[in-house]
Amino acid sequence: MHTITLIPGDGIGPEITQAVKDIFAAAQVPVQWEELNAGQTTFDQSGELLPQALLDSLERNKVGLKGPLTTPVGKGFRSINITLRQRFDLYQNVRPAITTEGIASRYSGIDLVLFRENTEGLYSGLEVYDERLGIADSISRITLEGCHKICYAAFAYAAKHGRKKVTLAHKANILKLAGSMMINACREVSREFPDIIFEDKIIDNMCMQLVNKPEQFDVIVTTNLFGDILSDLCAGLVGGLGVVSGANIGDTTAIFEAVHGSAPDIAGQGKANPTAMLRSGLMMLHHIGEAGYADRIEQALNATLKQKDKCTGDLGGKASTSEFAQAIIDNL
Ligand code: NAD
Repeated sequence: MHTITLIPGDGIGPEITQAVKDIFAAAQVPVQWEELNAGQTTFDQSGELLPQALLDSLERNKVGLKGPLTTPVGKGFRSINITLRQRFDLYQNVRPAITTEGIASRYSGIDLVLFRENTEGLYSGLEVYDERLGIADSISRITLEGCHKICYAAFAYAAKHGRKKVTLAHKANILKLAGSMMINACREVSREFPDIIFEDKIIDNMCMQLVNKPEQFDVIVTTNLFGDILSDLCAGLVGGLGVVSGANIGDTTAIFEAVHGSAPDIAGQGKANPTAMLRSGLMMLHHIGEAGYADRIEQALNATLKQKDKCTGDLGGKASTSEFAQAIIDNL
């Protein structure tokens, strides 16, 4: 039995985590949940944004499954997501994007995995605003060690999963120092993996290539902000934010979560698609060595995705979150 820290999150978080809990229970997955929340919900209840009990639980269990947490725009508290990633040094943000039968997309044959550096860059929290002069500085700090670690993770993943190519996305034509540091780190790492093709592309061209011919990409590695944006772009290529999963991985701890946010526009209405959260849960099962359960649930999910009427509205169906979850359970 594995003990997993479960963070329901805000907005649609509680609805989609409940769906995952129900599906895992029906499939008799050997996990027990330690459920603790963070963010606005806990702040309203106890005055704490990131309760110590949650940090202790993650410290103990080393594995978490997390719903989305709301971060106020332009004001208020610092992102709890970023705080957790930095606190546990979850330097890899791994986001697969794959076209799946039953999920409408303009493309076919996409099967790529994005590795986003998850703790540095423009998300380092180094922001200064001089009201008097009307100047805002947002400092993007990356380290050689950080570049090496994320590039190594991308190549090691490619080697382990029989992938053929790693593409680095950067902006070294303008950001010459940081960009070339990342390119050099990646090139150095690539020498340890002679069977894997290494290429690099400037981020603007990368966006165009992804929209034009996404099936040419295999593993993509990039810095924090570019990765954040590219992963939503990749979500759009394969059916939208409701279906793409993610993992925040460090050397000791990992937190799995969907790419999407708390979707306040549909929260509490039973409209949220639980696929992204479920797929994140399946990544977690692979991580803890329970691939058999992950494969069985994935088959049930894929069978359900072909039954359009059993799916949520974003996939063209009419089912609620819980009805979709029940259909997956029925297909187990
Ligand atoms: P969002 O991802 O929450 O929503 C964007 C659009 O996608 C919305 O129209 C929403 O309804 C739709 N959508 C998202 N998930 C869906 C699902 N499972 N099923 C069906 N439709 C879905 O992005 P946003 O509106 O820009 O952000 C809302 C909040 O979420 C913000 O506070 C933001 O900071 C936060 N956020 C958190 C995380 C995280 O916790 N990791 C990630 C991204 C955004």
